[in-house]
Amino acid sequence: MTLTRMDQTAQRRLPQLPAIVETWRADGRPGRDDNTPGLILICEHASNALPLDWPELGGDLGISAATRASHAAWDIGALGLSRELAPRLAPQTGGALLIHAPLSRLVYDLNRPPDHAGAIPPRSEVHDIPGNTSLTLEQRLARLESVYLPFQASVSAEIARLVMRGKRPVIIAMHSFTPVFLGQRREVEFGILFDDDDDIAQHLMLASRGCGLVTRLNEPYTAQSSVAHTTRIHARPMRLHHTMLEIRNDLIADPAGQARIAGILAPLLRSAISEALGNEAPRL
Ligand SMILES: [Zn+2]
Repeated sequence: MTLTRMDQTAQRRLPQLPAIVETWRADGRPGRDDNTPGLILICEHASNALPLDWPELGGDLGISAATRASHAAWDIGALGLSRELAPRLAPQTGGALLIHAPLSRLVYDLNRPPDHAGAIPPRSEVHDIPGNTSLTLEQRLARLESVYLPFQASVSAEIARLVMRGKRPVIIAMHSFTPVFLGQRREVEFGILFDDDDDIAQHLMLASRGCGLVTRLNEPYTAQSSVAHTTRIHARPMRLHHTMLEIRNDLIADPAGQARIAGILAPLLRSAISEALGNEAPRL
């Protein structure tokens, strides 16, 4: 039997796209020491890459270069900021991992559960996403299998390995937000979000007094919604300390801004992590 071209395309094996993992040792230098990392930064919206060779996963999504460059496609500056923060915090936590997404959140928003309408958004703020409209169940499942499930498996695996080694890694989800959303200007510069565990968040809020950034708890939006998906599925089940940080993206759009904000946030995070870990009850 001869396959038609369309059949061959339909039968092409889809890629598995796990998270990208970067590591820092306890001395703050790049590298991995499996025994010690006590901090995991997660950046689910790190990338604006599109699966251009994979129309089965949406290809270029039919979006413009402007949309692809905008906050709709990714968290501008969040990865660069995370790369500045990790080596600054690694000496305190015995090393650090940074786990980040390989593709744009417009392909699949890794911080949304599969039953959430925003997981594969047909529209984001003012941007229509043509490649996400009228998708069949099979097309949605393809993105789940290729993008969402491998990413979550990567995060679960990194956490499980550390927990089995006796570590209690602190989990920090790193995000950025746009200064203007649907025409509304946002004054907050640094948002600290918490869900049901506010330990790190409250310590961080206290430590941030006088830091020079307009800092708010649960702004520009509350974590008591679907935006806490990552920490809910990865930190809460093992009762790991966690929080979610949101930095206004005009502050971290370039490397100089990322280094400046990391310099402000690092001592606040060191203080909050130390307070939270100091209060940790022994596990039976
Ligand atoms: Zn984000």
